[in-house]
Amino acid sequence: MASFSEISFAGQRVLVRVDFNVPLDENYNVTDNTRIRAALPTIKKLVGDGAKVILMSHLGRPKGAPNVKYSMAPVRARLAELAPGVELLENLRFNPGEESNNPAFVSQLINGIDMYVDDAFGAAHRAHASIVGPSKTLPSAMGRLLQKEVEVLSTLRNNPKHPFVAVLGGSKISDKLGVVEALLNVVDSLVIGGAMCFTFLAAQGYSIGDSLFEPDQVDTCKRLLSLGKPIHLPEDIIGLDADGKYATYGRRLPPGAKGFDIGPGSAAAFTDIIMESRTVFWNGPMGMFEDERFAGGTRTVAQAMADTKAFTVVGGGDSAAALAQFGFDDQVDHVSTGGGASLELLELGDLPGLAALREAPNAR
Ligand code: ADP
Ligand code: MG
Repeated sequence: MASFSEISFAGQRVLVRVDFNVPLDENYNVTDNTRIRAALPTIKKLVGDGAKVILMSHLGRPKGAPNVKYSMAPVRARLAELAPGVELLENLRFNPGEESNNPAFVSQLINGIDMYVDDAFGAAHRAHASIVGPSKTLPSAMGRLLQKEVEVLSTLRNNPKHPFVAVLGGSKISDKLGVVEALLNVVDSLVIGGAMCFTFLAAQGYSIGDSLFEPDQVDTCKRLLSLGKPIHLPEDIIGLDADGKYATYGRRLPPGAKGFDIGPGSAAAFTDIIMESRTVFWNGPMGMFEDERFAGGTRTVAQAMADTKAFTVVGGGDSAAALAQFGFDDQVDHVSTGGGASLELLELGDLPGLAALREAPNAR
């Protein structure tokens, strides 16, 4: 396929799938326009070429019906400031055909369109109409954001500089164990914090009190621990005791205690590992960082990501938000705009959106 930069879009009507699934406040104002700004390099090239640009995105989960709460109007207003004269269709998920990948909905979307550009990395792991439909018939290309994301994450998967460490945390344990297993094939070691660590600690036989954990994943964790790659778990934990009082523990939590952050000893140990690596991928906060009492572990890891000479990549909505909250977002090499998509690309090496582009008429 000709690369995006090589194609001239002059005079073409170009339909662009973007990921403008942005956070809104209670008055429907856009609170973070990172995802809109991330699409600007692609939009600028198309507008510069003299194309007619029509953007489309989903927003939230309106479940296949129009809903004023999920209207694109506030996003369109913000877009008009950043890229005047560019059209943005109404929320794709107002039509049930989007998520069911209905061919009739695809036809409706591409009616009168000359070319398709996919720049929605954050949605590329979904086989939805707007992602996998248009490239069946239209000449297609990867936008600049999608291209960059694929380049960075494919390098991590296929050709990372060693030592390569993955730092994982957050709360979606069962969602993430697949990627843990895939990463074990490419990393030199894993660092695990966040709520995720308790299922691993339980698998090692430690008592974890009432901390968040997934009992049905204990066997999987046991198996992953036995594969022979170093998996670093916290050696100290901060949380609340059975009476709800702030408390610091070692690896063993008493009955009723809840672990909400890695302790300073673990944060220091994790920092050493990050500093000594040449590639670091971080997904998932080390603790419940939204509560300042439990933000220390995540802040220390974010600081290490900023300080290390390693090539650093951060994926995951909450991890990226934590990084920005602590002011380190411009000190890492790449902040992925896709949480689920970045994990799936690392795990499987491909995404439905990428496979669809390879089947486009100008790629075959
Ligand atoms: P990401 O969006 O970066 O992929 P997740 O969505 O998996 O990360 O997890 C983020 C959430 O995990 C945060 O809201 C954070 O409060 C929560 N979390 C992290 N550690 C703990 C813990 N020990 N107990 C409860 N929640 C936690
Ligand atoms: Mg999240």
